Amino acid sequence: MNLIELLSEDAFLTKAENISLQPLNWSLARAKGVEVLIRREDLIDEYVSGNKFYKLFYNLHAAKEAGQKQLLSFGGAYSNHIYALAAAAKTYGFNAVGVIRGERPKQLSATLRDAEAWGMKLHFVSRSDYRERGAEDLSALLSSTYGEFFEIPEGGANSYGIQGTKVLGSAIYRQVKSDYTSVCLACGTANTLVGVAAGLWQVGSDGKVLGFSVLKDSGIDGAQGLGSQIIHHQKSTGDVTSNWRLINGFHGGGYGKKLPADMLKFMHEFERESKFKLDPVYTVKMCWGVAQLLKKDYWPRGSRLILIHTGGLQGRRGFNL
Ligand SMILES: *Cc1c(COP(=O)(O)O)cnc(C)c1O
Repeated sequence: MNLIELLSEDAFLTKAENISLQPLNWSLARAKGVEVLIRREDLIDEYVSGNKFYKLFYNLHAAKEAGQKQLLSFGGAYSNHIYALAAAAKTYGFNAVGVIRGERPKQLSATLRDAEAWGMKLHFVSRSDYRERGAEDLSALLSSTYGEFFEIPEGGANSYGIQGTKVLGSAIYRQVKSDYTSVCLACGTANTLVGVAAGLWQVGSDGKVLGFSVLKDSGIDGAQGLGSQIIHHQKSTGDVTSNWRLINGFHGGGYGKKLPADMLKFMHEFERESKFKLDPVYTVKMCWGVAQLLKKDYWPRGSRLILIHTGGLQGRRGFNL
């Protein structure tokens, strides 16, 4: 199979530069005297949406440089990463394998249906097997079934992912320099938080990147906690910066769970006012978290917030939205 040309790095940087910061119509923020701008990364590509566009870019180049024609990664039934990977693989002529948690259901989710239609091979692994997927037997099974592949971790969360999301942070820096109070984004693995913080890092700047965790048990402390994963990610790239903070408590019951009624109501109101859509797994929780902090006067009047819409709108289909 011939690989068609990947997007060049110049074209990638230009795409990042071309996402504008839009003023957000939000009466709550107005009432609190806080300016809110939003970067609509959901608009960067129809299928390779939001932060996944950034996280995949250098992974695809690394695969190509390694001479690999097949990509393999991991995810759940509504994974934005699997969806983006399948779309990118189709566009650029890679073979793709998606290792999916759970038994193959009678009816595939809309996400997996699309991924399969785009040519991704779906390999289902029971939940207990999946937990052990680092184990050599799964690895050996995948190799003997699919041959050679370039492996991308779940969510695209590796140093190439950080290299890509650093471009997002740098693009914001060029747009606002240090003239902002907080940059806010939703966090799963926090790989994007690390990249964005690295791109925005300026010694002496007070600007902080706030990562709203969508996980119930992300626990800031401890070896398994998201905070230590962040340090680990940072060490893997050498960009050890201190301009970030994790915000917990706005996960709405946990990852991918049905939204609580108050959060769902908030989502509809926010969408009506802002005139764009949120996704139910990530961006709604960041916006909900920002709303709760605004109500508590977390930011003084005159503050300037930048929200990153990390995309993922295809995931609405799993929630009948
Ligand atoms: C994957 C995803 C995230 C989380 O990104 P991490 O780098 O894992 O923190 C946030 N928002 C959306 C819409 C996503 O699809």
